[in-house]
Amino acid sequence: MSSDPNKAQSGRMNSITRRLRAAWMRKSLLRIVISTLLLFALACLGWMGVQEYRALGFLKWNIGRSFFVERTVGGRITELYYRIVNAGEDPVEIAAGRAFTVICIAFAALLILRLFWLFVFSGPRESRRIRTILAPLNDLALKADELSRMEFGEDKYHVIEDAISQLDADESSRLSLGDSDLAGIEAAINNLLVRIRESNMQQARFVNDASHELRTPIAVISGYADMLARWGKNDEKVLNEAIAAIQTESGRMKHLVEQLLFLARGDSGKTTLTLEDVSLTSMMREAYEESVMIDEKHVYRFSEPENDMVIKADAGLLKQAVRILLDNAAKYTKEGDEIMLSCGEDDGHPYLQVQDCGIGMAEDNVAHMFERFYRADEARSFEGTGLGLSIAKWIVDKHKGHFEILSRPDIGTRIRIVL
Ligand code: ATP
Ligand code: MG
Repeated sequence: MSSDPNKAQSGRMNSITRRLRAAWMRKSLLRIVISTLLLFALACLGWMGVQEYRALGFLKWNIGRSFFVERTVGGRITELYYRIVNAGEDPVEIAAGRAFTVICIAFAALLILRLFWLFVFSGPRESRRIRTILAPLNDLALKADELSRMEFGEDKYHVIEDAISQLDADESSRLSLGDSDLAGIEAAINNLLVRIRESNMQQARFVNDASHELRTPIAVISGYADMLARWGKNDEKVLNEAIAAIQTESGRMKHLVEQLLFLARGDSGKTTLTLEDVSLTSMMREAYEESVMIDEKHVYRFSEPENDMVIKADAGLLKQAVRILLDNAAKYTKEGDEIMLSCGEDDGHPYLQVQDCGIGMAEDNVAHMFERFYRADEARSFEGTGLGLSIAKWIVDKHKGHFEILSRPDIGTRIRIVL
């Protein structure tokens, strides 16, 4: 076996080229022989046709045709004849020897010429073509060979181990191996570090925001509890105010903790979807009827589609996403104004839609509305934590759907869940 990889590879290339060329030559030879024979047969038929037309003055399919040879007494062939017999007429015999010889010689010459062309010009050209096609594969094989021979000794593993163990947990720390062979590994580990840090920061921000949101109701509740302890027990006014405030704040806290729990369960993969056939029209009609019942301050309308759509979805979760959209629509729309529910199919995609004519959003806010704890400035005068749409997005993402949002400040918002 050759120890030079270039030589060995070039040998392999030559052998592959030879095999491919031999296969191509076999196919070409067969093609040339068959096509020449076909042409020869056509030439013979053409000659016969011309002779028949000359003898009879017309061409006819069903006449008798035969060939026979004339021999000397010793058995030597002196002439080949073509005999035509038209019914009711005398047979016509035409000497065919000369013409047949000319046709045979012409086609033998044609065959030789084509074979000469194949071996002298087409064959070598095909070899060059095969080599050009195989060239990238050849380069690849050489590169792979080079890589497989590349020394990746134990010392390189130690370099990586040492560099990783010296990494700091702080934000700016990067892995530096100082070895060009390890540049790819260095870049991959540094990218991984950036992603881990981003995720850690997100987690820290989430915990920070959550604690911040929980602090307010806790402060209010403990404030009222102190007030009750000092003077409230005997003062009915203070007592009632404290009870009402504690009820409101504990309700708010419960809602917040439920939202946090949903997202935490979602992030840890504990919430799983139970897919079943869900009729979008029935689901939206139910949501509409519930809204009419629980919110008398707005006018709800449901535009029912002509054809129902049944999709595979988690009915409970999808309904929860619709409820989040409806809560927002009610919260950010003036009393007495209309909120419109609809569902259907657009371009083959089923959708659920809630449209309001409330405070709307500027484009900048739309870009952030699904972020956890995000609330537009205009929304801060309303109750809320900024987690509703994060939950809705988690649900829609899990259904492999997306949101389409159309919103204009002071005109309204249309949010569509496309599934
Ligand atoms: P909650 O977690 O209690 O639902 P929230 O309604 O503020 O609080 P999201 O539902 O996540 O939080 O909405 C995020 C932000 O998107 C809102 O604070 C608001 O600024 C904007 N927004 C959402 N829906 C609408 C809407 N229909 N009209 C106007 N702004 C909206
Ligand atoms: Mg909301």
